[in-house]
Amino acid sequence: MARAWLSLGANIGDPRGQLVEAVSRLDAHADITVVQQSSVLTTKPWGKTDQPDFANMALAIETSLAPIDLLDAVLGIERAMGRVRKEVWGPRLIDIDIIAYEGVRMKSERLTLPHPYAHERDFVLVPLGEIVEDVTALVAPTD
Ligand code: ADP
Ligand code: MG
Repeated sequence: MARAWLSLGANIGDPRGQLVEAVSRLDAHADITVVQQSSVLTTKPWGKTDQPDFANMALAIETSLAPIDLLDAVLGIERAMGRVRKEVWGPRLIDIDIIAYEGVRMKSERLTLPHPYAHERDFVLVPLGEIVEDVTALVAPTD
């Protein structure tokens, strides 16, 4: 079992409802157990600012999945949730990023750990700070 930390975000449809659903889908996965949840933070959109506010939260999980298989699992949940609601609310209903995976630093085409932008994004750092003692160390990017 390894510990990993995820960042969840949503800004269309029912953002808080989608976060709750994503947490429940993650925990329902046979190889993932949600062990800690931050509170939900409302944040202003970053980058493209002419869009609704985001709801963001962080999770700690225990998983038997290797990092790349965890990525496939979270992308599968994003897809499953997007397909269900796509016609009504558009394509960007839930984002699930792997912020860090215990003991792993990697850069590949599909996966960079720790997440390359986590260290500069308050919407990741603030919720994560509620459930992790040393966030700076956890998200320190690989050169
Ligand atoms: P973003 O999260 O940057 O808004 P997407 O959710 O569309 O964008 O993700 C695009 C791709 O980022 C994913 O398909 C995945 O292969 C890649 N990626 C690289 N590192 C990570 C990571 N640590 N967590 C999640 N996705 C990652
Ligand atoms: Mg993402």
